Amino acid sequence: MSGRSAESVLTARSALSALRGVGPARAAGLAAAGYRTAGDLLFHLPQRYEDRRTTSRIAEIAAAGPHTFHGRLRALTRVRVRRRGFSLVRGRLADASGEIPVLWFNRPYLPNQVEEGREYALHGAVRAAGAGWELVNPSVEPVGGARLSGAVVPFYPPIEGLGPALVRRLLTEVLDALDPEAAVPEHLPPELLERHGLPRLGAALAFLHRPPATADAGELNARATSAHLRLVYGELLELQLQLGRLRGRERRRPKEHEYRIDDALRSRLADLTPFRLTGAQERVVEEILEDLDSRLPMLRLLQGDVGSGKTIVAALALVAAMESGLQGAFMAPTEILAGQHYRGLERLLGKRYRVALLTGSVDGAAALRRDLARGRVQLAVGTHALIQEGVSFERLGLAIVDEQHRFGVAQRRLLQRKGDRPDLLVMTATPIPRSLTLAVYGDLDFSVLDELPPGRTPVETRLEPEGRRETVYAWLRRRLEAGSQAYVVLPLIEESDRVRAASIEEQGERLRAALAAFSPAVLHGRTRPEEREAVMRGFAAGEMKVLIATTIVEVGLDVPRADVMVIESAERFGLAQLHQLRGRIGRGSAGGTCVALHGPLGEEARRRLEVFGGTTDGFEIAEADLRIRGPGDLLGTRQAGLPVFRVADLVAHARWLERARADAREILAARSSPELAPLLARVDRRAGSRAERFGGG
Ligand code: ADP
Ligand code: MG
Repeated sequence: MSGRSAESVLTARSALSALRGVGPARAAGLAAAGYRTAGDLLFHLPQRYEDRRTTSRIAEIAAAGPHTFHGRLRALTRVRVRRRGFSLVRGRLADASGEIPVLWFNRPYLPNQVEEGREYALHGAVRAAGAGWELVNPSVEPVGGARLSGAVVPFYPPIEGLGPALVRRLLTEVLDALDPEAAVPEHLPPELLERHGLPRLGAALAFLHRPPATADAGELNARATSAHLRLVYGELLELQLQLGRLRGRERRRPKEHEYRIDDALRSRLADLTPFRLTGAQERVVEEILEDLDSRLPMLRLLQGDVGSGKTIVAALALVAAMESGLQGAFMAPTEILAGQHYRGLERLLGKRYRVALLTGSVDGAAALRRDLARGRVQLAVGTHALIQEGVSFERLGLAIVDEQHRFGVAQRRLLQRKGDRPDLLVMTATPIPRSLTLAVYGDLDFSVLDELPPGRTPVETRLEPEGRRETVYAWLRRRLEAGSQAYVVLPLIEESDRVRAASIEEQGERLRAALAAFSPAVLHGRTRPEEREAVMRGFAAGEMKVLIATTIVEVGLDVPRADVMVIESAERFGLAQLHQLRGRIGRGSAGGTCVALHGPLGEEARRRLEVFGGTTDGFEIAEADLRIRGPGDLLGTRQAGLPVFRVADLVAHARWLERARADAREILAARSSPELAPLLARVDRRAGSRAERFGGG
């Protein structure tokens, strides 16, 4: 298998060890990066292109920037420099029009490699030097022999310890032997390519590796050629097909349980609701009831900005389950939030149904688990404790996950497995742009609460530098005296970060002193669960006027009368997190004020805080966050398992994601077509290896 005689022919299936200079170590590195065959390597794409089609004349240089020259090199000398590991070579390049000084960093052997008197093509950046110009770090290729001059030249990113020059050489060898148009199979049906005006995969790869003389270098660098878009579309379509297949697998068989959705239920729901639902809530409740009533299990995402009232929607859906003799499960990411939900649901539903709280720190958990398994408890509210082994339900009909973005897909699945294909509702308070929703939750149906309960006054937000802390504290004291209830939020610091942890503690002490007259309650990561409960309950009941806390107040907390928030070191928080925090106040009708105290600001932090101060609209904030941080960061890799793409960019290619989703649904609905078989087989093969990421398996 290894080594290649002069006659043997390189094919797309040839192992990479068949290439010159690829021994076992390099082959292993390539394999680790996902490249095993010559055909695989064709998917290693250039990251940028240089346009070397037009050569400049030295005497006519008018501006700094990239240039290509043809000329002769002379007077190459190594310059002595003191710094170790650093070398400098100088020389002069002459063409018919004139001469320009050239310098190279860290190319100590160049003088030995270049023949004086021979004509070379040099490509590199020209910059101003003294009264004239100099050429810095140009590439050097003999004129005539090189395929690199006179073309739009691709530059490749390195692969696992193989430098860009070696990568280019390997690709040159592969491309000289293989025509991608013939070697790379097309798995998309021609009609899809036609629909979107895209080239075949092989043609796209050929174009990207060896752009034709007419190619537009600017378009190539912007990744906007139709060859790029062919790859983008392919990636996105595959993702959407995978998500669609997952969805199909979960909804393959009708569910075993049944709901009684009738007038009696509707009037019960109406009786239970403590306020008038917003139009959006009414619409979403209907969407959910329709799902519950259908034969296939519900898979639905409920998106709604902080304070939009998702909890009551969940509660009503749970009532539908319990009235039909089914159990419900409601999972939340923190003990505090689970406790709050438990108390709220108990108040709302406890007269008629048995509601129980199951968290890591609940007493009598064993008895509770027994009652749950026997169906004596109808609704279990809890944390991750719900998905532990040893927890079982007699007849789980509806599973709800609150603050889904705080959980992994795997956890959501564990909850589903506590029943026989229960209906699933996941809720998220972090509105993310639609493009990301499609990429992450493409296997779910969506409902959106796009209306806030009536009478809310938007929270007023002020940004204040830390120098004004005392003034802000004085203002806070006045507000508290006048009857306000306030959160003061400190950033959460990793234990390992001793220095910062100490300074935060100090800040906490100062705060406690400044607010001593109001006997502030304090919550932090090390507060014991029972104590947390007590503190939260006291704060919610209005017994304490001010709560000093690290970010554990972030998600979900609902204390309607709290109307003031001071955020310390606001520059340390992400935008979505700031929005979540601020969402804790202004939940009643009185509005509220949020003051973000901040230290010195870097460029990105400044942009974040400006957006934060400028809007309270969660969707606007999510869009801005995406622009500032990029999609990889937005959800946090840990949380959402955002797919990784080679070419596709969820921001730039949002429109293509929508197309891919529509096409995927169409394809999966018409799967009988033999034309689609190779595509679907490929998607299933890949889904195996990416199952965890997308939550399959
Ligand atoms: P979130 O969507 O952030 O989870 P919640 O469900 O906690 O929001 O609701 C926020 C607050 O608004 C709660 O105090 C809730 O009781 C109240 N609320 C929800 N819906 C309505 C409504 N239709 N009318 C009045 N208040 C409502
Ligand atoms: Mg909530």
